[in-house]
Amino acid sequence: MVKLSEWRGKEIFRRHGVPLPRGAVARSAEDAEALVRDGRVPLPCVVKAQVLAGGRGKGGAVRFATSVEEARAAAAAILGLEFKGEKVKEVLLEEKLAIGRELYLSLTLDRSLRLPILIASAQGGVEIETVEDAQIDRQPVHPFPGLTGYEKRRAAKVLGLTGGAARALDRLLEAVWTVFEQEDAELVEINPLATVGDGLVALDAKVIIEDDASFRHPEYAEIRDDRTPLEEIAREKEIAFVQLDGNIGVIANGAGLTMATLDVLKEFGGAPGVFLDLGGTDDPKKVTEAFLLMAEARPAAVFLNIFGGVTRCDTVATGLVAAMRQVPAERRFPLVARIRGNNEAEGIAILRAAGVTSVPSLKESAQAVVAAAGGRP
Ligand code: GDP
Ligand code: MN
Repeated sequence: MVKLSEWRGKEIFRRHGVPLPRGAVARSAEDAEALVRDGRVPLPCVVKAQVLAGGRGKGGAVRFATSVEEARAAAAAILGLEFKGEKVKEVLLEEKLAIGRELYLSLTLDRSLRLPILIASAQGGVEIETVEDAQIDRQPVHPFPGLTGYEKRRAAKVLGLTGGAARALDRLLEAVWTVFEQEDAELVEINPLATVGDGLVALDAKVIIEDDASFRHPEYAEIRDDRTPLEEIAREKEIAFVQLDGNIGVIANGAGLTMATLDVLKEFGGAPGVFLDLGGTDDPKKVTEAFLLMAEARPAAVFLNIFGGVTRCDTVATGLVAAMRQVPAERRFPLVARIRGNNEAEGIAILRAAGVTSVPSLKESAQAVVAAAGGRP
């Protein structure tokens, strides 16, 4: 999942013809001042923190300015913020339009319908989660024809747009559909979509690119706004590694087993803090690298849950033992292992010889690691 910041989303919008306010990005108060002073951003203007979290409007991360000095001051204030745990490094400056109504529009994937859906609401400008369900219209869209006239007319009706504004919506929906399809997005959200006279303007942009399509979009590979430093290193080493809020590290193989392991830990009162999916690898070098990365995340305890199908339990165990020896003493952590399948007995013997607790039952091993991490036994 590649979440794009607002200005990156808007850059894509611009390329595909979604109407936007004029604007530019600044990384310092001086840059912001210069943008307004030389007219690249007209006054009055809006100064917006470029962070991935929403609710900036309410949280003081969107400000208005009517002079060069105000724009500079707003940029300086916002660039100093830490917004919902994220340091603000960029601000987007845009002309402040005289807007009419604020609407909501998005295209996303409905995984149960297995179709894209178009979501529209006349109640825009607030988080969609807070809008009453009856005020939200959802239309499945078949991907082959894309958005049809019928769907566009229904959206216009829901949004209360007629005449020139309805025609503007037609064009905008075409452009938004193109963004969704060509960029392989899993979400394209415009909130608010503002009426300006007879036209429509996207005041905000939230675009999420589907990971499985990343091979078609090398241009997004460089965008690392939403990765932690360790996740960044992991990506370079091609290790599937994700940091969460808890204190238990999980090493498993295969996405399904990894997710199930997280669920089981939660079930027994544990809090997964980082997980690592070895996938199909049993290459001891790769296992060592992955394990050392895990140690960097400073887990209170680690649960190793491996199913040896193609992977051989003994080679995974060998890699792990080699890796454990490389972890500096002050960073060692209790390790509970459950390895089943191909060459299981050999794997367990290797782990036991190295002093690792090895428990065959999923329930008991999960309970053991939760206890080792200081949680509920
Ligand atoms: P979010 O709160 O993080 O989703 O940030 P938004 O980009 O949606 O901005 C929040 C609010 O600021 C919007 O709902 C608008 O009311 C207001 N806003 C943002 N840009 C403009 C603009 O160009 N003109 C006007 N009048 N209001 C704006
Ligand atoms: Mn918004």
